[in-house]
Amino acid sequence: MAFVERKRPVFTETEAQEIAQSLYRTQGVLKEFPSERDQNFYLRDSAGKEFILKIASVLDLEETLEMQNKAMERVASRAGSALAPRICRNVQNKEMASVVDSEGLPHYIRMLTFLPGIPLALFRPHSPQLLRNIGRTLGRIDSALQGFDHPAARRDLRWDYDRAQWIIDHFGRSLASLKGKELIAFFNDVWSRHVVPELPALRKSIVYHDANEYNVLVSQPDFESEPSVGMIDFGDMLFTYTMAEVSIGAAYAMLEKSDPLSAAAEVIGGYHGAFPLAEQEISLLYHFIAMRLCLSVSICAYQQQEEPSNEYLKVSEQPALDLLAQWKMIHPHHAEYVFRHACGLATHPHAHAIFQWLEDHKSDAVAPLREFSIGEYGEIREVGPYSNVPGGAGSFRVRTNDGFEWRTVHLGLDYFAEPGTPIFSPFEGIIHSFQNNAGAGDYGPTIILQIPAGDLQFFLLFGHLSSDSLLGLYAGKTISRGACIGRVGTYEENGNWKPHLHMQLILDMLDQNGTFPGLCTPSQQEIWHVLCPDPNRIYGKETHALNAADLTQLLARRKEHISKSLSLSYRKPLHIVRGRGQYLFDEWGRSYLDCVNNVCHVGHSHPRVIEAAQKQMKELNTNTRYLHPNLLEYSERLCSKLPEPLSICFFVCSGSEANDLALRLARAYTGNANTVVVDGAYHGNLTSLIEISPYKFDGPGGNGAPPHVRKAIMPDPFRGPYSGEDSGASYAEDVRARIASFEDSSRVTFIAESAMGCGGQIILPDGYLMHAFEHVRESGGVCIVDEVQVGFGRVGTHFWCFETQNVVPDIVTMGKPIGNGHPMAAVVTTPKIAAAFENGMEYFNTFGGNPVSCAIGLAVLDVIEEEGLQAHAQDVGAYLKALLESLQHRHPIIGDVRGLGLFLGVELVRDRKRRVPVAQHAAYVVERMRDRGFLLSTDGPYHNVIKIKPPLVFTREDADALVENLDVVLNETVLGPSSVLP
Ligand code: PMP
Repeated sequence: MAFVERKRPVFTETEAQEIAQSLYRTQGVLKEFPSERDQNFYLRDSAGKEFILKIASVLDLEETLEMQNKAMERVASRAGSALAPRICRNVQNKEMASVVDSEGLPHYIRMLTFLPGIPLALFRPHSPQLLRNIGRTLGRIDSALQGFDHPAARRDLRWDYDRAQWIIDHFGRSLASLKGKELIAFFNDVWSRHVVPELPALRKSIVYHDANEYNVLVSQPDFESEPSVGMIDFGDMLFTYTMAEVSIGAAYAMLEKSDPLSAAAEVIGGYHGAFPLAEQEISLLYHFIAMRLCLSVSICAYQQQEEPSNEYLKVSEQPALDLLAQWKMIHPHHAEYVFRHACGLATHPHAHAIFQWLEDHKSDAVAPLREFSIGEYGEIREVGPYSNVPGGAGSFRVRTNDGFEWRTVHLGLDYFAEPGTPIFSPFEGIIHSFQNNAGAGDYGPTIILQIPAGDLQFFLLFGHLSSDSLLGLYAGKTISRGACIGRVGTYEENGNWKPHLHMQLILDMLDQNGTFPGLCTPSQQEIWHVLCPDPNRIYGKETHALNAADLTQLLARRKEHISKSLSLSYRKPLHIVRGRGQYLFDEWGRSYLDCVNNVCHVGHSHPRVIEAAQKQMKELNTNTRYLHPNLLEYSERLCSKLPEPLSICFFVCSGSEANDLALRLARAYTGNANTVVVDGAYHGNLTSLIEISPYKFDGPGGNGAPPHVRKAIMPDPFRGPYSGEDSGASYAEDVRARIASFEDSSRVTFIAESAMGCGGQIILPDGYLMHAFEHVRESGGVCIVDEVQVGFGRVGTHFWCFETQNVVPDIVTMGKPIGNGHPMAAVVTTPKIAAAFENGMEYFNTFGGNPVSCAIGLAVLDVIEEEGLQAHAQDVGAYLKALLESLQHRHPIIGDVRGLGLFLGVELVRDRKRRVPVAQHAAYVVERMRDRGFLLSTDGPYHNVIKIKPPLVFTREDADALVENLDVVLNETVLGPSSVLP
């Protein structure tokens, strides 16, 4: 067999311009696009119409090109012109013309319509839906090509599956790496034994045959719809196995994916939906994909040897080799089940028959059982007896950089029982295999039984047995129904697990012996629950449905009784069931790094805080009308953190209550309601506070500022009118002007957040509060600072954020972090203002300052001090800010990075000079980060600021992970300029 190397044509852009003019009467912008075999020039005429001028290799035959033209036309007319280019006729009304190059060699020239889009290789991310669309497009192309025939389709082509073994034998020798050679030899051998005998039964047709990552074009994305997909370059068309088409598409779509099998499954599922595959084809897809990758690396290696300077050839070699190594780790049956599932077929072809057999052969219990388990955190969890909740080894572990999903879904049944409890076989079977899986977190001594079920068979795994259970066993040994097959092992025998039996039903051992995965990742659970069905089937008990529908149910129930004015975060809302430190966990144990909850200040569910609360709750909870040391100790501790003369405390239950009381105190002192607020500020949800919160009264549903409230401009150094050294004083000048705007401009109340949260993480410019306070105090007024977001050490350099402004306010309000999630808040003021409030009317707050809240408040202060969280916030905050600033250098969309300690903001803009805010982009980043396991939110008047304000236990490693992932997301195509066109 001979494969002549084709030489690419070498026309210059000027020559191409001349050809376009003479053959097509078309002129315009022209640019060469890279290509493997022919020469392609992009051309845009004066009317903006776009074309591809294609100059064929000297070796391309007229009849081959004619076949391509006909096929493209057929696809475009039958399946849609967005799927493939169309041919344009030249001045002679022909589809092709021949032009001679500088060496006198003839080349066929064609002009095609330009298919807009971004090559898959450059497009990010490859969402499941996009991968499905690739499959669907290929299916539609193949469907359009059904019945199409052309003599040129039967030809020698080195990508031909029928010649694959010869090619990899010969070309694969050029591979430099031994690993590559071994991988290819392995898959070649499997192909000979498993695939070659089946080839004659497979259907054949003419297929497009080249859906590689540069030929798959993805439409320009927007934020609303999933991008569509088209194919270019019909130069590899061939009459071959029809399933070659989807195998090639899947193989390239898998490149550089963390989960290539799922990526392939999406392509295959999409294809099947448009053009159904036969079951036999699905069973061979694994091998067809492997063979295409083998061909790709072999041919690349050979071509590189021949043409070392051609970068284009190197593009897919290493990733394809890495992928082959990954592919080898996946059992072909497993791949087949995943593909069947993606196609909507029964995942395991015999599952139903086995379930029927189990139904007919129900057994009694395998062991005396206790039907509950003790979870990792001491909670009692119903096992009942089957559990598909996150359980066992993987539950609620925190994420690592290598992945956001752990295997947290339990595939078997855990029976907690005393060591030595005998276990009886529910069925007659034989010993399949046994082994002591002694690794940490593993099964320990394990026995696997093979159970014949009519013509079929299945397996039962018994793990965490006593070591002596394995004595005297041999593979093939018969075990009768009801026979004792082992005993529950001890704590030590089982890698320090609480003694229990792990029993698992398995339909296909996937060539494993003595062990089998007992957990899977949440996203893979549908498939694994088919391969490892609910062991309750052994007893004929009702099986528990997967929890997949839970979210829909929760949403429906929420809609029933919860007002729509309470919003949910994220398009795909999260069902969070647990928190630890800086992590939150969903119902399947997936961990999310909480980068935004400044309420759980010292970490979610901090044991010290919980203990303090529990201890005090057991003892007493009353109100402030009795003497109690907690109230006294807490007020003393809080005041010791504040400068003189701030020394009189009021305890309330929320930030809003604190600000409302602060207004009452101030107004009692000033004798009027006149208030100056900062534009964009938010101070709480009470009527009195909506009136002083521009964030609300200027927002949807708001009624604007009431007559007693004036807005001073937001002191935003990035977006506001002033920046630089004196900008604080300049912004404060507007506070003065607002005071003066009142008819009676004496004794006004001024309220400001000491760094703005909802306003978009605004750090006040130096001198702002100092000058503003001067103006207020000149009027005889009162200065309130709202520390609800930023107090308690968050800003790192100081315990209170107002201290960074060198001021002492008259009233300070505190909330959120004060109780680490417990509803408590506080107001601290001066004796003078407190005295003005003491007019005979009692201030009573049923819950404020109760002994439990005070115990919690004290514990929070203890933890901040003992764990050095303020200094930690300064260190990690500075580290994170520097990382974000370096990210800003790489991503022009980041207009500003600002922050103090662990209170940071990243403002996204379209054009750094004009600072056009991009709210959709910011929302997109937050959604995508959620998909990757990071919780963030947006805010600011233009909703374009990403807020970062994690629990203070956030580490430098967390900062690294956050910024690495932000980098990935900011590179996604929809966020940036992606056009490669001239
Ligand atoms: N002040 C500021 C600065 C806030 O951010 C908030 C809440 N976002 C509040 C007050 C109100 O606090 P709460 O929701 O606890 O009433």
